[in-house]
Formats: sequence, structure tokens, C-alpha cells
Amino acid sequence: MHDLIQSREELDFESLATEITERLRWLGGFGRDSTGGVSRLLYSEEWDAAQLALKDWMETEGFVARYDEIGNLSGIVEGTDTSETILTGSHIDTVTNGGLYDGQFGIVAGILAIKYLKKYHGQPIRNLEIVSLAEEEGSRFPYAFWGSKNIVGTANRKDVEMIKDFNGIPFVKAMNESGYTFRDETKAPRQDLKAFVEIHVEQGNVLETEKKSVGVVHSIVGQRRFTIEVTGEANHAGTTPMGYRKDAVYAASHMIYDLISLAKRLGDPLVMTVGKMEVSPNIVNVVPGKVIFTVDVRHTDKKAIVQFTEMLTKNINDKSNEHAVQTSIDMWLDADPVPMDTKIVEIIENQCKKNDLNYKLMHSGAGHDAQIFAETVPTAMLFVPSRDGISHNPAEYTEPADLAEGVKALIATLYELAYLE
Ligand SMILES: [Zn+2]
Repeated sequence: MHDLIQSREELDFESLATEITERLRWLGGFGRDSTGGVSRLLYSEEWDAAQLALKDWMETEGFVARYDEIGNLSGIVEGTDTSETILTGSHIDTVTNGGLYDGQFGIVAGILAIKYLKKYHGQPIRNLEIVSLAEEEGSRFPYAFWGSKNIVGTANRKDVEMIKDFNGIPFVKAMNESGYTFRDETKAPRQDLKAFVEIHVEQGNVLETEKKSVGVVHSIVGQRRFTIEVTGEANHAGTTPMGYRKDAVYAASHMIYDLISLAKRLGDPLVMTVGKMEVSPNIVNVVPGKVIFTVDVRHTDKKAIVQFTEMLTKNINDKSNEHAVQTSIDMWLDADPVPMDTKIVEIIENQCKKNDLNYKLMHSGAGHDAQIFAETVPTAMLFVPSRDGISHNPAEYTEPADLAEGVKALIATLYELAYLE
């Protein structure tokens, strides 16, 4: 393996980097919008065309390509033992006005990795499969991870039967018009999946800041989201003396200042964000009677999230008393952290060491399809840097040399998983 990705006559590093960037540009042509970004929403014409183009490419490389019922597209190189599959993949749906890297890099990387493994090592022991998942972003319909959830059998028809996109088009109609239908929910999910490895852009600035080319993800953070409503008393801004006020903005800002300071003290990997705030009546000359704000808190350890919740509750109650306001706390999202499979993480780390890759062991602060697979399939993830941490934006960028290092890590990992006894 060492030789495969290091010797220049077998796999030229510069030509790999060029091949990746050319393929990203090619794939980004499907759904290219007027601002230079990519808008490719699930079951849209652009998405259908991109999936079809990928199918052609897979077939050109000699993979067996097929869609499942809902539109997940797979390219397969059969192993000598067809009962076991090593899966890699990601998604090609984007946010509106997204970039060239989020999601589609994982598809380009997976196809190229399998292409080179097939070329230099021939038939694997276990099937090698690249999957272009039918939806991850939740950017057209209010539902995320439709593709991966269908593969592991946790998506249900009733979850999407009533939902519509922003133009009022029902999910089911869009799916049918693309040529897909629901999977048979009475059938057991696939039993052949022995590993899932996803490569993705980091969407943060850790790798760039630390000058690393590859991230080996050991866990995906858990998160809780809250809406906090602070009710004081709206009053005239001129005639109500400062001492007689129940100012909801004053109380809420005291809470927010304390909570963010606390999060800073606790530090990495805890992150906490107040991203949304509504003030009412939101008028220049009225003492605000109500503030509604959100809190998003994430950590790789559930205990730390629970502990932060307790501190948050205590702080908000104390500040409510101090400011003589009423407060309610509504926790509406509670997702557990998802550890990656320790054996696969170890394999990836060893391969990175062996192949002299410039890597960092890290967690993912964002959600990915890998967390859906991880429920039932041994799963791990690789990251490559995102310039300035930017994603979901046409300005997404990763240096070609880093993309190539990421693909090298994927090749080495898939080799160990699919070719070794
Ligand atoms: Zn993504």
C-alpha cells in the first residue's frame, strides 16, 4: 500500500490533484447559477442530471452502477466475497447558492479512490461501493439525511408524505417526477455493509489554522437547542424611570453575556451560540417587554451538554429573579454525540502515519450522513481543510494539494478495509 500512493509512476500526486479539481468543476456545472455558485436541490432537474452524469462516469470506470428505489446512486466494484461491502460516499445536493466542495468532493474522491484501487490492485476481497446519497442538506424540503436514512432503514414514508418545498411542491410529487418511489418498508435494510467512510470538507477553520491537510474524525458532536422567552413589561421610554422598569432586553443581555462567558471558560470542544433574537415591540421609544432568543450548544460528550444545560437553567432563573422578569426555557432539539468506530479511526490514523500524511485527530462540529450510518454500520470520516472555514457559499475552497492528500488517505483506508483479509 505504501508504494501505491507514494511511488510517482503508480499514482502521480500532481495529476491526482488536477484530476480532482477538474472533476469538481465538471460536476459543479450541473446546477451552476448566475452568481457562480451551485444550486442543486433534491429531485430537481439539475440534481437528476448530475446523478445521471455520475452514473455514466462510474460505468466508464467499469463500475456496476445502479439506483435504489429513492434515487441513491451506487457504483460498485464487486469483491471475491460479494456478501460484504465497504461503502464510501457523500451527497451532491447543495444549499441554494452553495459551492464546489461541500458534499460533491466526497463523491469525486470516492470514485477516484475506487478507480485507482481497481487499476492498481484489481478485484478486492469485499465489494467496494461509492454512493451518491439522495439528499443531506434539507435545503429543499424540511427533512435531512433522506438518502442515508433510507439505506439504514430509519426513514419512513410518513416522515415526508405531508411535506412541501418552498414553492408548495409536495415531496412525494417531486420524488415521483424524478422517477423514484418509496422503498419497501417491510424489507430489512442492507446487511452487507461492513464499513462506511465519508470524506468531506471541514466547514470550519481548525485544519487551516493548524496547517493540517487531513482531519481524522473521531466523533460528531451532540447538540441541544433551546428557545428562551423573557417577559418583562413594555413601557414608555421617556416616562418610566430606570429603577421602575422590567426591561426584557436588559435581563436577556445579562443572561446571554453570562452564558457566553461561561462557554468561553469551559472552552473546546464546547461551543455555544445565540444566533437568533426577537425583541418586542421592537420600537425605539418603548422599553422592551419581551425578548425571545435561541441557544445552540454542542459538545462531543453528552455529560458536558447536560451539565451546561443545568448551568444555563440556573443562570436564567437567577437572572430572572434579579431582573423581576418571567422566563421560559424550551429545549426543542436534543441529539446525542455520535462516536466514530474506534477500529476504523485507528486504521485511518495508522494509514495516515504510514503514508506520511499531515493529519489531525479531531471531532466534527457539524452533522453528516456518517452519523446516520454510525447507528448500524462501523463508520468513520475524513476531513480536508476549508479555506477561512467557509462553506455553503460559492467561496468554498480547498487547496488541490490538500484534496489530493485527502483522497490518498481514503485510498489507503479503503485498501485496508476491502483488500486485506
Ligand atoms: Zn455536506
